[in-house]
Amino acid sequence: MSLTLTVDGERWRHHLLTTVTRFPGIVPVAKGNGYGLTLGRLARRAQWLAEHADETGAPLDVLAVGTYDEIGEVASRYDGDLLVLTPWRPFGAALQLDARTAARVVHTVSRPEDLAALRAHDPDARFVLEQLTSMRRHGMTRRDLAGAAEALLAGTDSRRSGLRGVAMHLPLNTTSHLSEVSRLINDIVASGLPTRTVFVSHLTHDELTRLAATYPDFTVRPRIGTDLWLGDRGALSVRATVLDVHDVERGEVFGYRGRSVPKAGHLVVVSGGTAHGIGLEAPTGDQSLRARAATLARGGLDAVGFVRSPFSIDGKQRLFAEPPHMQASMLFVPSGARVPRVGEQIEVRVRFTATDFDRVVID
Ligand SMILES: *Cc1c(COP(=O)(O)O)cnc(C)c1O
Repeated sequence: MSLTLTVDGERWRHHLLTTVTRFPGIVPVAKGNGYGLTLGRLARRAQWLAEHADETGAPLDVLAVGTYDEIGEVASRYDGDLLVLTPWRPFGAALQLDARTAARVVHTVSRPEDLAALRAHDPDARFVLEQLTSMRRHGMTRRDLAGAAEALLAGTDSRRSGLRGVAMHLPLNTTSHLSEVSRLINDIVASGLPTRTVFVSHLTHDELTRLAATYPDFTVRPRIGTDLWLGDRGALSVRATVLDVHDVERGEVFGYRGRSVPKAGHLVVVSGGTAHGIGLEAPTGDQSLRARAATLARGGLDAVGFVRSPFSIDGKQRLFAEPPHMQASMLFVPSGARVPRVGEQIEVRVRFTATDFDRVVID
């Protein structure tokens, strides 16, 4: 009935422990759809990792969430600090935290005016300052950081300023980030900010090791989501259920659009549709729009105009008979191929960060 993500629990947990051991100071990221696993599950797992600190040698004292609205899903399942990645603004959900949760939150501040506003709103607020990177999403320039340092050091007790570090969000580069990070760290030093902790994303293990050697007085804390939760793809399998099969002759009409079948075969109705995120592709790493269009033109359509689907039967990727429906999809299987039986499970290739499964089963 369902679109199901099945996790090989032992293998997954082993990967989590190994990753946390390998990246001391890791800040696990649990945001969005929980990387397909749900936020609640990731929060419980982060708590479990924190409780295994003896084994990993890595205390896990902070979990990152994407937005203020996600705090509710994780706060009761994980009991450490909660770093919110979306920068604080003087409006909206950021102002609606209850006092108990607020005490556990570490805010991200990305504009000078927000630093003043946050400290006025909550004098005990803890925060990281986000530094502008080549991503150019959010963040402070070197001049902003120097201004922030001045504002913080002007306080009566600058060590109680609430500053927990500087955060930088780096692009998913193929080449090395090191020169950019070095420049950014030099800007932190030059700014006079009273911190030696930086939170980074998307650095390789090798890059982190080299940074630690170059800046021994800095603590570099990697924020990791994908490589933690989804880093061992072999531990994860996604399956849809075959719900119906209809034999069709060439010319027979089917589907929402009354299309006629271009050749004899079978319509196979499977679980999984737009509501699950099936067929909606997020942009991929390095493909330009033109390259993606070319791919679609070349390989995405078959000779009779069917679009390739993410569903496979017997290891062969099958075509959508028409665009996915809300919770089911219609596939076309040509005559001659083995026809799956109703109830059978078939493989689906999904983008985990854009998929909502009906069920997640941890074996
Ligand atoms: C999502 C996110 C991360 C984690 O990214 P992954 O690619 O999933 O490891 C780190 N930092 C920020 C600011 C993010 O938004």
